[in-house]
Amino acid sequence: MTCPSRLRTAGPAALLAALIAASGSSAAAGAASAAPVPVPVPILAYHHIGRAPAGASNPGIWVRRALFDRQLRALDRAGYEAVTLDRVWRAWHGSGSLPARPLVISFDDGYASQAAAATTLRAHGWPGVLNLEVARLGARGGLTRTQVRTLIAKGWEIDAHSVTHPDLRTVSAARLRTEVAGSRRAIRQAFGVPVDFFAYPYGRQNARVRAAVRQAGFLAATTTERTFASPDADPFALGRVLVGAGDSPSSVLRMLRTGG
Ligand SMILES: [Zn+2]
Repeated sequence: MTCPSRLRTAGPAALLAALIAASGSSAAAGAASAAPVPVPVPILAYHHIGRAPAGASNPGIWVRRALFDRQLRALDRAGYEAVTLDRVWRAWHGSGSLPARPLVISFDDGYASQAAAATTLRAHGWPGVLNLEVARLGARGGLTRTQVRTLIAKGWEIDAHSVTHPDLRTVSAARLRTEVAGSRRAIRQAFGVPVDFFAYPYGRQNARVRAAVRQAGFLAATTTERTFASPDADPFALGRVLVGAGDSPSSVLRMLRTGG
């Protein structure tokens, strides 16, 4: 059976999906209470953690540390528990379980400012998910290899976000392979981690891009379409909820209550 706390996690569409999933499993076995229910899970998407420098081109993607801290405390108080996308994926496919109110907290690109996020997450015992743009690794303003290793040691999942962050819909077939399969290979070689998930640069994708991601061996990929990630959706088009400088803790909670 689907427990009520799981139902409260999600918005109306997610609730409907959870009910459909529960009704399907109840026909299979009376012991459905022990079976993992493949619930939709919100994936938050952050960029910079810190104060935007003067003249920043997009100050809206800078979330100050104090606000980030308040957002996480509000999520924790509301019963949410952050997990990795890998844990969500495994639970959706019958391996392992999820907390009552799971969510994934992801960070795009690999900015140096994101190292600070790990400290805040760790205060809650939560892992983060880093969507790493390979060319940013060790570059000016980017995370260093040592910092990424530290994140991995703290339980973070490292996923691929291309090599140079182009709009993948516009690149040649050869470049598409380099950006998609190449980014997976580079991160695996650098850090010895699985790299089973991909985040599309700018969230932009089409059938050709999704096919390239699948062919590179990824299990799933995330967009910036503002929906909960759902086990019933195309795994290569999982939605995410962008969080920015203007999102108060209560507005983040509201987004999670209403489905994005
Ligand atoms: Zn990006």
